[in-house]
Amino acid sequence: MNFIAIIILCAIAVDFTLNLVADGLNLKHLKGDLPQAFRDVYDADRYRQSQQYLKINTQFGWITAAFNLLLMLVFWFAKGFPLLDQWVRSFQLGPVLTGLVYMGLLLFCRAVLSLPFRIYATFGIEARFGFNTTTWKIYLTDLIKGLLLALLLGAPLLAAILAFFQYAGAHAWWYCWLGVTIYMLGVQFIAPTWIMPLFNKFTPIEDGALKSAILSYAKSINFPLENVYQMDGSRRSTKSNAFFTGFGKHKRIVLFDTLIKQHSVNELVAVLAHEMGHYKKKHIRQSLILGILQTGLMLFLLSHFITYDGLFKAFYMPQQSVYAGMIFFAMLYAPIDFFIAIVMQVLSRKNETAADRFAADTTKDPLAMVAALKKLSVHNLSNLTPHPFYVFLNYSHPPVLKRIQKLAAHKMA
Ligand SMILES: [Zn+2]
Repeated sequence: MNFIAIIILCAIAVDFTLNLVADGLNLKHLKGDLPQAFRDVYDADRYRQSQQYLKINTQFGWITAAFNLLLMLVFWFAKGFPLLDQWVRSFQLGPVLTGLVYMGLLLFCRAVLSLPFRIYATFGIEARFGFNTTTWKIYLTDLIKGLLLALLLGAPLLAAILAFFQYAGAHAWWYCWLGVTIYMLGVQFIAPTWIMPLFNKFTPIEDGALKSAILSYAKSINFPLENVYQMDGSRRSTKSNAFFTGFGKHKRIVLFDTLIKQHSVNELVAVLAHEMGHYKKKHIRQSLILGILQTGLMLFLLSHFITYDGLFKAFYMPQQSVYAGMIFFAMLYAPIDFFIAIVMQVLSRKNETAADRFAADTTKDPLAMVAALKKLSVHNLSNLTPHPFYVFLNYSHPPVLKRIQKLAAHKMA
C-alpha cells in the first residue's frame, strides 16, 4: 500500500470517527425535560417525539454511512477502479467520452445503491413522523427528472472540464475555473424560471393582508422585491421553509404553502425580514465569492495531482487518465474540504445571527421572529438541545434556543 492510500484511509477513518463521536454526544445530550422557552408551544408528547425522531435519524445515518464506507472499500481493494477502466476503454471512445462514461457509470451505480436508503428515509422515517406527503408517482417522476437534469446540465460541464485538462496543458485549471464560475452563475440565473418549476408550482401570492404587509416592509428597507411566490411544498412534505432566489431586479422570495398555513402575518414578515437581511448584509454575495474561491483552490490543487503517479498507484490503476485522476483527487481533497466546511459553518452561523438581528431591528418586533422560530422548531421536530461539538461540525444555523436568547436580549437592549 502506498503513501497516498494511507493518507486517504486515515482521513476516512478520522472523518468517520469524528462524526460517530459527534452523533453519540448529541444523543447523550438530549434533555428529559422541556426547555423553559418552549413550554407554551410544545407538549410533552410531541417533545418526546422530536427526540425519537433524532434518535432514529442518527441510527439510520450510521447504517447508511457504514454501508457506503464498506462499499467504497470493497470496490477499491477488489480493484474495481482498474477493472471498470479496462472495460470502458475497450469501447475506444476517445479520452473525453471515455471519461464521461466512466464517471457516469460510477455515479449511476452509487445512486442506484443508495436508492433503497433514500426510499426508506422518505416512506419509512418521514412517513412515520407524519411529514411525508410524497406519493410514489411524484417520487418516481422526481427521480427521472433529476436524472435527465443531471445528464443535461452535468454532462456538458464535466465534458468541458475533462477536455480542458486533457488538451489545455498547464493553464487548464484556470480555464476550468473561469468556465465553472460562468456556468454556476448561469445555472443560478435560470434556476428560478427554468429548473425549479420542473419540480414545484410557483404562484404569486394573492392580494391581501400578507402581501401588503410584505411589500410595505420591503419598501421600508429599500428592498427591490419583484414578487412574492408561494410554492407547493406540501406536495412532498409537511415541513416548512422559505428561501430567496434570483439576481438583480429579478429577486424573488418564496414561501412554502405549509409555512403560510402555520404562521401569522407578523411571523411571516419576520421570516422574510431575516431572508432579506441576508441580502442586505451581503451574505449572499459573500458566499458566492467564497464558493468561487474554493472552486479555484480545488482546481489548482487538482492540476498538480492529476498526473501524480502515486495517486493512480494507490487505486491500482496501471494507466493515468484525467477522469480517474479527478475521482482519486476528490478523495485526497476530502480532508481539506472538511476543514473548509467547518470554517464556512462558523461564518454561516455568524451570518444567521446577523440576519436575525436585522429582522428584529427593521421589523421592530423581535418577538415575532421568536414566535416564528419556536413554531418552526416544533413543527419540524428540530433538536432543541444539540451538543456543542455536533453544532460545531454540522450546524449552519445556531441552535434555536441560542437564537431565541439573543433575540430576547436584543429586545431588552
Ligand atoms: Zn438565514
